[in-house]
Amino acid sequence: MILVTGGAGYIGSHTVKELLKARYEVVVVDDLSSGHREFVLTPHFVRTDIRDRQALTEVFQKFPITAVTHFAALTSVPESVAEPARYYEVNLWGTFNLLEVMRAFGVKLFVFSSSAAVYGDPEKIPIPEDHPTRPKSPYGRTKLMVEEILADYAKAYDFRYVSLRYFNAAGSDPDGEIGEWHEPERHLIPIVLEVAAGKRPYLEIYGTDYETPDGTGIRDYIHVSDLASAHVLALQYLERGGKSEVFNLGIGRGYSVREVVVICQRVTGREIPVREAPRRPGDPAVLVADPSKAMRELGWKPRFTELAPIVETAWTWLQKRQNLR
Ligand code: NAD
Repeated sequence: MILVTGGAGYIGSHTVKELLKARYEVVVVDDLSSGHREFVLTPHFVRTDIRDRQALTEVFQKFPITAVTHFAALTSVPESVAEPARYYEVNLWGTFNLLEVMRAFGVKLFVFSSSAAVYGDPEKIPIPEDHPTRPKSPYGRTKLMVEEILADYAKAYDFRYVSLRYFNAAGSDPDGEIGEWHEPERHLIPIVLEVAAGKRPYLEIYGTDYETPDGTGIRDYIHVSDLASAHVLALQYLERGGKSEVFNLGIGRGYSVREVVVICQRVTGREIPVREAPRRPGDPAVLVADPSKAMRELGWKPRFTELAPIVETAWTWLQKRQNLR
């Protein structure tokens, strides 16, 4: 049985769906601080905080866990700058807690949700895994510190891991069962679509004077179901005896904020008013992954290689969610 922490959240719930499709049994641990109970697609759910070692111990006592995919975390870069203590407590100490319970129960396989935030300002594009890591925020530092702990555990103990450095997760389950739902929403595509839906008056573009063709920031958007399938492959890789590794997950192609707006306008058929605003501190101009290592070594291949179909899944979900509420 696979333990998925944060399995009521955006990427975790999509991964649970892929794991169930691949015939794994899954137990979800989530404190529902930002996740949704109705996103938990497995019957096995324990509402608890990963900082609670006793509660985690009981989960490992109750379920025959053989591997862990670990999503539970606080995820906002600006919030981590304002409140670093919370980020170190949940993302770093909570993860350490989980690793220690795994060790006590002899559970040896771990898939970790890392982030492109470990790289900081890129020296070259696309970014390979051996690019220098100089995170610019406490959030990025928690991810890098966990990677360092994982490397030490793998050296010292009978323990193997895969760390997946996601670029920008986007889109929603093509079946419309689950999707992206954060409150407040901080990700570009759902915000743009909320403008299209008339829920927000306009989109603020942070920075129009970057050294990019249209002056706005460029990011690599990867469909959440492709991220989810990479987790299943990472788990199977570890189960086959694969050695501990770090992989980038992106589609290897960047879209500027203005390009995202144009594509969202085309997909929704709605006007999307924009306002130009100053750059936000800490935002690199361009972040695009070199995902070739994951493709080569995990056999991963994204189904969504263009932004428009990714936006279509996000738009279908947003419309469905609005009808639900
Ligand atoms: P999310 O907020 O939707 O999911 C996080 C889940 O963890 C939520 O269900 C939340 O309730 C749960 N959680 C938070 N703190 C917890 C705690 N102390 N104990 C138990 N559960 C807790 O976020 P997401 O976008 O799905 O991100 C999942 C993971 O992927 C995170 O580790 C995040 O840092 C990483 N990541 C996300 C992106 C992205 O583009 N969304 C990019 C890079 C990395």
